[in-house]
Amino acid sequence: MKGTRPKHVPQRTCVACRQERPKRELVRIVRALSGVVEVDPTGKKSGRGAYICRTRTCWEAALKKKALEHALQTSISPENRAQLQEFEKELMDKGE
Ligand SMILES: [Zn+2]
Repeated sequence: MKGTRPKHVPQRTCVACRQERPKRELVRIVRALSGVVEVDPTGKKSGRGAYICRTRTCWEAALKKKALEHALQTSISPENRAQLQEFEKELMDKGE
């Protein structure tokens, strides 16, 4: 271990690549009570949550391979999937 890493950084696992990363490097996705799967930029929405890296590769894997649906134990409608893909685009436009 190198010395600069702070202690007590909350780690979460990306549903696509299964790597652990500090929580703030990931995007939280929540299955709301209504059943709709939405992005949770604040990390404070209630519901079953999952995390995805801020990379196109992981977003595509999570959406296409149903990793996200599996993690959230739900099925994502085509409309809902399109919303998530819109968010993915915004995220990638902003860069890191
Ligand atoms: Zn990932």
